[in-house]
Amino acid sequence: MAKIVCVLYDDPIDGYPTQYARDDLPAISGYPDGQTLPTPKAIDFVPGALLGSVSGELGLRGYLESAGHTLVVTSSKDGPDSVLERELSDADVVISQPFWPAYLTAERIAKAPMLKLALTAGIGSDHVDLQAAMEAGVTVAEVTFCNSISVAEHVVMMILGLVRNYIPSYNWVTKGGWNIADCVARSYDVEGMHVGTVAAGRIGLAVLKRLKPFDMHLHYTDRHRLPQAVEKEFGLTWHETREEMYGVCDVVTLNCPLHPETEHMINDETLKLFKRGAYLVNTARGKLCDRDAVARALESGQLAGYAGDVWFPQPAPQDHPWRTMPHHGMTPHISGTSLSAQARYAAGTREILECFLEGRPIRDEYLIVQGGALAGTGAHSYSKGNATDGSDEAAKFQKAG
Ligand code: NDP
Repeated sequence: MAKIVCVLYDDPIDGYPTQYARDDLPAISGYPDGQTLPTPKAIDFVPGALLGSVSGELGLRGYLESAGHTLVVTSSKDGPDSVLERELSDADVVISQPFWPAYLTAERIAKAPMLKLALTAGIGSDHVDLQAAMEAGVTVAEVTFCNSISVAEHVVMMILGLVRNYIPSYNWVTKGGWNIADCVARSYDVEGMHVGTVAAGRIGLAVLKRLKPFDMHLHYTDRHRLPQAVEKEFGLTWHETREEMYGVCDVVTLNCPLHPETEHMINDETLKLFKRGAYLVNTARGKLCDRDAVARALESGQLAGYAGDVWFPQPAPQDHPWRTMPHHGMTPHISGTSLSAQARYAAGTREILECFLEGRPIRDEYLIVQGGALAGTGAHSYSKGNATDGSDEAAKFQKAG
């Protein structure tokens, strides 16, 4: 029988919801590239319920306990006294969501001799030291595509929010003002602007498709070029390197995974390549950017705005400069954990667990590491190495509210 440790974010501060704003979720029949939605044998939750916080338990308890397995659910994940650290010694599986990542560093993997599966309930497994996982024979899997469209919608919202100066204008209303000139002195239309994505994978391409009706000029760079038919259909301009793309864009959005090749790719030097007054939206991973270089670029006016929902580490300490830098539109890491997304990734988590516990193969598209090497989606989109350095800083976070 297996022991599964599941790290989830805390319940709402005013308690686990007893009712919801909407009664159901729209039916979605499949993903845009033809990949099927998760196919667990069953689910024990109501789609649309809050599953990603501790009391939601990703809807897994009934299934796991009825099969004789042990499930430990906790939000306590950082520092040597955390529940996660205490439970690691005999854990077979660790489940974590990127929003509240259970950093599985090499030190932690060494403390978990029974660990066979690190399962990301979401997309993006950079919180696991992939190099250490490969060396320890730990399988790493994630629920590919489960929340890619959720994030793409968030990116579009953030681009419009920054360019049109939405958040400061909203704030004037809540302060009782009618300060039109203050609102519009930084407000533009996106029509005619050039927008470029670093990576045109599931999220990046979905962002471009959604921005096409706004009559923006669409650019991308990626390790693998898209088929010509796709470039033609959406009028995409391809750039061999990201550095070459930055200078032609009014808006840049980052949609690649964090791995050694992409860590800190936005820094003082590369920001100089941007047009003055460009907007940068990053919902991929905080560590793609040099934290202080972004704050400096906003202060100098090199960037007109920065928005995103990803930080490093997570949760971000109170003194993280992205909380207070000018012209930002940051949220906590939420874009991929809408109630709609949760239903998909809870079902995908269950599918992966069923495969693992019944000795069946996990879908190739869900695999990041298997058998000591990058595998499946991991082999296509990641590079070898580790991007978890500095994650122990997450222990500095103090809960608010
Ligand atoms: P995909 O795997 O579909 O896309 C990732 C793309 O990044 C691939 O096209 C890949 O290229 C490309 N890529 C990898 N390395 C580079 C590089 N060095 N330069 C340029 N492109 C590169 O994943 P998704 O689109 O679904 O997700 C992307 C990332 O977004 C995730 O890894 C995760 O970090 C983040 N994410 C954030 C969420 C949130 O809640 N904020 C939720 C979901 C994801 P190729 O495969 O051609 O090599």
